[in-house]
Amino acid sequence: MTRLDTDIRYIKGVGEQKARAFEKLGVTNLRELVMNFPRVYEDRTAVKTIPRLQFGDTCCVSATVAAPPRLSFIRKGLDITRVPVVDAGGRMTVTFFNRSYVKNTLIPGESYIFYGRIGGRIGAPEMTNPVFEKETNTPAATRRIVPVYRMTAGLNQRTMMNAVRVGLDACGDQLPERLPREIRERYHLAQTCFSYENIHFPRDMESLELARRRLIFEELFVLSCTLSFMRTRQLRKSPYRIADVDMTEFYRALPFELTGAQSRAVGDILRDMAGDAPMSRLIQGDVGSGKTAVAAAAAFAAVRAGYQAAFMAPTEILAEQHFRSLSALLEPLGVRVALLTGGMAAKAKREAREAVRLGGADLVIGTHALISGDVEFLKLALIIADEQHRFGVQQRAALTDKGDTPHVLVMSATPIPRTLALIVYGDLDVSVINELPPGRQVIDTFLVGESMRQRIYNFIRRLVGEGRQAFIVCPAVEETEESPDGLKSVKEYAKELQERVFPDLRVALVHGKLRPKEKNEVMEAFAAGSIDILVATTVIEVGVDVPNAALMVVENADRFGLSQLHQLRGRVGRGDHKSYCVLFEGGGGELARERMRAFCKTNDGFKIAEEDLRIRGPGDFFGSRQSGLPDMQIASFASDMDMLKTAQSAARELLTEDPELRRPENAVLRESVERLLEKNKGTFN
Ligand code: ADP
Ligand code: MG
Repeated sequence: MTRLDTDIRYIKGVGEQKARAFEKLGVTNLRELVMNFPRVYEDRTAVKTIPRLQFGDTCCVSATVAAPPRLSFIRKGLDITRVPVVDAGGRMTVTFFNRSYVKNTLIPGESYIFYGRIGGRIGAPEMTNPVFEKETNTPAATRRIVPVYRMTAGLNQRTMMNAVRVGLDACGDQLPERLPREIRERYHLAQTCFSYENIHFPRDMESLELARRRLIFEELFVLSCTLSFMRTRQLRKSPYRIADVDMTEFYRALPFELTGAQSRAVGDILRDMAGDAPMSRLIQGDVGSGKTAVAAAAAFAAVRAGYQAAFMAPTEILAEQHFRSLSALLEPLGVRVALLTGGMAAKAKREAREAVRLGGADLVIGTHALISGDVEFLKLALIIADEQHRFGVQQRAALTDKGDTPHVLVMSATPIPRTLALIVYGDLDVSVINELPPGRQVIDTFLVGESMRQRIYNFIRRLVGEGRQAFIVCPAVEETEESPDGLKSVKEYAKELQERVFPDLRVALVHGKLRPKEKNEVMEAFAAGSIDILVATTVIEVGVDVPNAALMVVENADRFGLSQLHQLRGRVGRGDHKSYCVLFEGGGGELARERMRAFCKTNDGFKIAEEDLRIRGPGDFFGSRQSGLPDMQIASFASDMDMLKTAQSAARELLTEDPELRRPENAVLRESVERLLEKNKGTFN
């Protein structure tokens, strides 16, 4: 019996050199080896006799080598070995390119199983470079469902498969049963040994499904236990009680009345901040639902109670915009607002930092430069993060580390299903703003082809004539060699629009490679109405708020994800003007077009997000690999949502009975929970 933490290099057939390759796949010991599940499977169960073979079949053929293999050299670096094989009913040629060694492995008179694709002519079937093995009762690579693993240089599928076989045999029944028996029985889950055996070497499709189901459940169950476990550990007291703040002045200063949903969110926040524990709340509201006003209310309350608040935005453009609108709103109420972004001049930055440190600023707005190590706050009681899903994991962790357990408010327009939110954000309370400010009209969205271009330009001209403004968004900054297929270079394009198409209108350009100051000037000019048409890259994707803009044109729309398109579309329709979104389809193919057509028909961010999640998977969906989702071995947050729900409720039940997982029968589970906590220190916060 071999211990599960045995180093991979001591597994038979591995050794020093291959161990390094295994390590690249994250496999360093026996446990990790058997938990490195196949990526996909190849079904090699189909077996045919030679007379029944058809061109294009991929199957196994059991046959006997009829004559010695013939090796011929074609030219330098290319040789062919041909082997005639027969079965009871016919004859087939097996051909190998550059595998001269088979000359000595395939022995005349012996029987083998060959697996591959059938080519050749009618009556003279041929198989090229097949997988083969000796005829046996326990086939490994043929006549069965074969695992396909993630690969890296220095390894091949055979080596991996052999190592896993050796590994499974070596750990035998040592694999710990992490699921309590009761739960396993209630949810009809297969046993550990069966599951590990069949996930790697499935006996048949049914067994594979049983194994998968159990292992997915197990992984999500352990994850759910870990999250609940952490939550109970995290019950802390807040040093900042913010209670009985008179909000009248704030409401009086607001240029509009809060919607019912906004008021409820503000109510939730004020209640949280008046409690004993630090607030940890997510405000989820579709683009344009008015999250900024809610944040402003929270900041006002904190400042009125005598503390500081910090407001983080994911881009400089957005930080500047919040700074402008919130200073206008709050300065008259005596709140001193400061701006701090990475792109500011050194002197201005220094001054802002001083003000924050000495208490000369009450509300500081900025990018993630705000939470970088060298910013000190005098008495930070509230951190607000806008468009929270855009921040990486580290930044999110740093957020809660700042100050002395401040209240945390995060805001997102990405409607994440509740189950997933629990994992991405840990245990946040959620307020949903499910109502748009009054007077908003549905944004009409159109998908158009190149042939419509002139008409769209006319349309832009008409809207500008009526006093509106337009965005034109392009996917790339510069024409690059990788994108010769007509991807618009924004610079070229903006120039062309100004000079040839709209010589009499004011066209400007903004993109990520501009200096922060230039960016800011353009955005301010656009907000002030002194630009008619703003050509932009996705720097304007989130948050930008210019209510007079009524048209969003997206070039090569197929290059964007649906949630991204929804964000872009959310840049218009923010005032009471009828607004439009026009998508130029680009060359994305029928599937992309299908998706965009569906997008045109709905303004419901939640539906769009779910569809996007389904298409792209959670990693991309949240913007980067650093999605804040823990790495999963087998479960997928995109397709195993139902299972996640089940696992979560099972975990909750178990933890009600045994909150600390102290019972002996839960010891194995507790060990896994500890291991997961250790592995994901930065992720769960
Ligand atoms: P988002 O939720 O996308 O961040 P914003 O906070 O930027 O939305 O608000 C969008 C626009 O709606 C802004 O111009 C804001 O002034 C306006 N707004 C917000 N709340 C209301 C309201 N209750 N009534 C009218 N207009 C509102
Ligand atoms: Mg916003």
